Amino acid sequence: MELVEERPWRFRIERRGAMRVPGVVFASRDLLGDAEQSLEQVVNVATLPGIVGASYAMPDIHWGYGFPIGGVAATDVEEGGVVSPGGVGFDISCGVRLLVADTDRRALRSALPAVMDGLDRAIPRGAGPGGVWRPTGQGQLERLLEGGSRYAVAEGYGEDRDLARCEDGGAVADADVTQVGERARERGIGQVGSLGSANHFLEVQRVAEVYDETAAAAFGLAPDQVCVMIHCGSRGLGHQICTDHVRAMDRAMARYGITVPDRQLACTPVDSPEGRAYLGAMAAAANYGRANRQFLSDAARRVFQRAAGARLTLVYDVSHNLAKIETHAVGGARRRLCVHRKGATRAFPPGHPDLPEDVRAVGQPVLIPGTMGTASYVLAGVPGGDAFFSTCHGAGRVWSRHRAARTVVGRELGARLERDGIAVRPRSWRGLSEEAPEAYKDVSAVVAASERAGLCRTVARLVPLGVVKG
Ligand code: 5GP
Ligand code: MN
Ligand code: MN
Repeated sequence: MELVEERPWRFRIERRGAMRVPGVVFASRDLLGDAEQSLEQVVNVATLPGIVGASYAMPDIHWGYGFPIGGVAATDVEEGGVVSPGGVGFDISCGVRLLVADTDRRALRSALPAVMDGLDRAIPRGAGPGGVWRPTGQGQLERLLEGGSRYAVAEGYGEDRDLARCEDGGAVADADVTQVGERARERGIGQVGSLGSANHFLEVQRVAEVYDETAAAAFGLAPDQVCVMIHCGSRGLGHQICTDHVRAMDRAMARYGITVPDRQLACTPVDSPEGRAYLGAMAAAANYGRANRQFLSDAARRVFQRAAGARLTLVYDVSHNLAKIETHAVGGARRRLCVHRKGATRAFPPGHPDLPEDVRAVGQPVLIPGTMGTASYVLAGVPGGDAFFSTCHGAGRVWSRHRAARTVVGRELGARLERDGIAVRPRSWRGLSEEAPEAYKDVSAVVAASERAGLCRTVARLVPLGVVKG
């Protein structure tokens, strides 16, 4: 793929063939390594009807279903712009939540094994059913799909203050439960409050370094403080919704005169019955994902309270797989756009009206998991942020799960992490090996590239003390 270096950390893929916009890749040549296949996906996304600006790729880009993971694409709603389930991904509203404890590493040291054992028992995980909370029936499930974290808090699983620190106040508006099929409900009803499989985790961390004291203070972070990071999404419910709506759009596309270079990019106009149906169902799945993280936070809080007498306070909760209708300046005019972020995190700038009041002056907290053996980061949105105010979402895979499992022996990895002072509570050794640190890019390099490309700035680095793996 021919990449034109526009400036350091920003490459352009020139328009050609059916591309409606260029591709823009934020990275270094080093980070791109053998990203050829995913760069092809950036080109494919650039052909979508109504796409504006560019088809963007973040430094953690890797191959995904139709759209690359680490991709951002915005379409103009009024100009026939499309919405594509593949631009959100199967784990709708997968995201990250960070809580801080009112204790530091030294104070927690003696209680840490008990905390980890408590979490091991309290946090449901793995591919199957089982969660910390079960709706009594369809009525409760529907209220959860409409209310997200707000519903979980109303049921007693959290504090009102949590909601102020969640993207969208904890719930996406416009969820349409009538668009959530029976199979999706069946899969979802037994999994509320569960992590899922191995890329999802609950990690106990400490703040290893603060880069921006003002922002860190506003987020409630101090050196050596203990934190809890939760990464999970909408489980089988979101997966089924993606499957169902990809199929519906694949059938409907031709009626709108849409052709795509890859069937996995199935899409219809945002403003079409199929587009509205998907967005309504997607919003319901997003609320499921947020409620999921809220219920798990409550479970973690109980463990910390009991085993360490510590309190957990929410820093922020943000999705990295979502499409949102947002207004942005495009070519001098304000346009209503459908912004797809898939493996990309929204990063609103300082002063944005949608941010919680107490962090508005410093910008949106952006939560970036790295690996269970290295580090994770807290970033903040910046003024003039590119790619419709988006940045990376993680380190990004370089090895497939299969290759990681073949190369790394789970038990040996577990022993290595324990030697490094990281307590591991895996559900399976194979799951652990699939998520080995060497299966990912260097998160520090990804974060540095994102910062230098002008997408965000670094606030703090977090390192793992213990990990509960899906
Ligand atoms: P994804 O949403 O693409 O599945 O994962 C997001 C990111 O989570 C990955 O790119 C990877 O950097 C990170 N990640 C996966 N497993 C772990 C873990 O156990 N701990 C931490 N801190 N990060 C992880
Ligand atoms: Mn996920
Ligand atoms: Mn994720």
